[in-house]
Amino acid sequence: MDTKRITVTSPLLPDLEEFQTLLQEIWNSKWITNNGSFHKQLEKELAAYLKVPYISLFTNGTLPLITALQSLHITGEVITTPYSFVATTHSLWWNGIKPVFVDVDPVTGNLLPEKIEAAITPRTTAIMPVHVYGTPCDIKSIQDIADKYGLKIIYDAAHAFGVEVNGESILTAGDMSTLSFHATKVYNTIEGGALVMHDEQTKKRIDYLKNFGFAGETEVVAPGINSKMDEMRAAYGLLNLRQVDAAIEARHQVAIKYREALKDVAGIRFMEDTAGVKHNYSYFPIFVDETTYGMTRDELYFKMKSQNVLGRRYFYPLISTFATYRGLESARPENLPNAHKLADSVICLPMHHELGDEDVERILSFIIK
Ligand SMILES: *Cc1c(COP(=O)(O)O)cnc(C)c1O
Repeated sequence: MDTKRITVTSPLLPDLEEFQTLLQEIWNSKWITNNGSFHKQLEKELAAYLKVPYISLFTNGTLPLITALQSLHITGEVITTPYSFVATTHSLWWNGIKPVFVDVDPVTGNLLPEKIEAAITPRTTAIMPVHVYGTPCDIKSIQDIADKYGLKIIYDAAHAFGVEVNGESILTAGDMSTLSFHATKVYNTIEGGALVMHDEQTKKRIDYLKNFGFAGETEVVAPGINSKMDEMRAAYGLLNLRQVDAAIEARHQVAIKYREALKDVAGIRFMEDTAGVKHNYSYFPIFVDETTYGMTRDELYFKMKSQNVLGRRYFYPLISTFATYRGLESARPENLPNAHKLADSVICLPMHHELGDEDVERILSFIIK
C-alpha cells in the first residue's frame, strides 16, 4: 500500500527567511499589535488586490460575521443556508438572532432566491447567504428581494477570496461581506479574517467595534469586542499575498486534471467553471449518485481514507441537524431536500497548490473503476 498521506488541503506558507526579516522589523519597532504598520499595509494591499473600497482585518473569519450583525443592529430572524460551515449560523446565535434555514440550489449549493422570499416574516431583518465553494450566489435576485422587503444582506464570503464576476469583485455585494484567512483557506494568515464594507464611515465604526468600541484614548462608543489581527500575522499575510495568484493557478491545473478524468465517470458530478467568473478553486466537490455509481458516498469516502487519501465531506452534516438548531421549524428535513441531498452525496477531493500529478492520479485511481 502506498501510504503517503494526501490531505484535503495544505497551508500556503511564506518563505521562512523572508518572514524572519519581517519579524526582525517587528522586534525592532516593538509594535506587535493594535493597527501597526504591517496591519495598515495589509489592509491597503488587500483592498487593492480584492478590488474592494474598504476592508478591516480580523483575528479570524467568525468574528467579522458576529461584528457585522452587531454593527447593523440585526435582530429577530435572519434567513440563511444550512449548507455551510457551522460558523455562519453560530454568528446569528451569538447575537440572539433566530436563524431561518431555506433550501439551496441543487447544483451550486447556494441559497435559492425564491425560497428566501417565501420564508420572509414580519420579524425578518436580514439575509446571510454564503458563496459556497466560492461559487457566486445569485447576487442580483437576492438584492432585489432585500430591496423589496427592506432587509440587510451580509455575505459569508469565506470561500470567495478573489472571486470576480465580469471583472468585479463579488465581495462588494450586499451590505457587507466577510472573509476567512484560516490555514485551510486559499489565502491564509494562519488564523485571520476580514470584513469588507462600502464606505469610510462604516469602516471606522467596524474598526472601533473590533477594538472594544474605543474611538479614542478615553472614549468608548459601543460595546465592542477584541478581534484585532496582530503584526506577526499581518506580516505573514503580506508575504502570502505575493504568492496567492500562483497558488490559485496551481489549484486551477489540478481542477482541470480532475475534470478531464472524471467527465466520463457515470454517477460522479462535479462543478464546471462559469463564463465571466474568475474562480479561486478553493474546493473541488464531487457528488456521488450511489445508484449510478454503484457505491455510496461513504463507501467511496472510507475507501479513499483507508488508502490515506483524505477528502472531506464538506458540508455534512448540515448545520440544521446539529443539536442547537434541529428543533427549529425551518430545520425540518422536508424543508431542505436539496441541501440534504448535497450533504449526503458530497466529497471534497484534496485540493491545494502542492498536489503533484502523481498525487492526482492516485486520488483518481480510487474513484475511477
Ligand atoms: C472557514 C469558514 C468560516 C470561519 O472562519 P474562521 O476563520 O475559521 O473563523 C466561516 N464561514 C465559512 C463558510 C467558512 O468556510
